[in-house]
Amino acid sequence: MRTAAVTGLAATGAAGLATPAQAKAPRDWRPGAATFRWFGTAGWRIDIGARTVLVDPYLSRYWTGLFDTGLVLSTPLTVATATVDANVGRPETILVTHSHWDHFNDVPHIAIRTKARVLGTMTTYQLGLASGIPVGQLGPVKGGEVLDFGDYTVEVAGSLHSRNASYSVGIPGVRLSPPPKPATVGDLPEGDTLAYLLSVRDGPAVFFMGASDFVARNVDGMRPDIAMVAMASATTTHEYVPRLLEALGKPPVVVPVHWDNFEKPLENPPPVAPADRERLDAMITSIRRVAPRTRIVLPDYLKPYTFA
Ligand SMILES: [Zn+2]
Repeated sequence: MRTAAVTGLAATGAAGLATPAQAKAPRDWRPGAATFRWFGTAGWRIDIGARTVLVDPYLSRYWTGLFDTGLVLSTPLTVATATVDANVGRPETILVTHSHWDHFNDVPHIAIRTKARVLGTMTTYQLGLASGIPVGQLGPVKGGEVLDFGDYTVEVAGSLHSRNASYSVGIPGVRLSPPPKPATVGDLPEGDTLAYLLSVRDGPAVFFMGASDFVARNVDGMRPDIAMVAMASATTTHEYVPRLLEALGKPPVVVPVHWDNFEKPLENPPPVAPADRERLDAMITSIRRVAPRTRIVLPDYLKPYTFA
């Protein structure tokens, strides 16, 4: 079913890459300006020349009950160090959307080993300190910042976590001072949520989100070339996909993320729980209806994409 959807969608995309409102079309990008690899969940590795940026890198993929019995908050945090080390390269910057385990779990290990800079919410900052990341590598951001890294910029947008079926948020909470060292999934609260616009010099501007809600007024007019859009697991957010795509200016390329079963091995094709398969199909239908000229790319794990 997934393959059929991709084939059909690829055919619709070619004619729709440029609209007058877009500052640049993918064909204007410097070839190979940036390469993107999906880690599953909302995780990405972006290589810009010899420089590497990670977003929500989560590769450890251990059982928490989320996909069967229900989330077990006492699940110990563990890091699959061999898998992580083999795939993250030498990152200089790690962007964290929020501090749930499926976004933050591997960040302390990566940051401590590679000396990468970690940007995230105040809660991510405090949890990072508590997890042993040196203070000099941690930068709290709120939304509104536009950070200059030379070959790329990062604009931070205040965002929102996914609304669950109870109109609530999983593991809510913030940390404003370092807690004891996090040891379990329940020790990693959501801690507010951010989205990021990474703009590569002479390359694409790419919107990353880690959860399926957003503040429309914070992203209105952003106009990314590519948007990594988290799948919603509930229908409690009104018109999530249509409102998001309208606010972002109907990006030429949309990449659905956070639809895979991230407690199964990191093997292609990405595993999907049956209920999430239905949600993913509904999301694709919604994208095609709202933005028929948008190219939809369902990514495979670890495959290098340029989206050109
Ligand atoms: Zn989350």
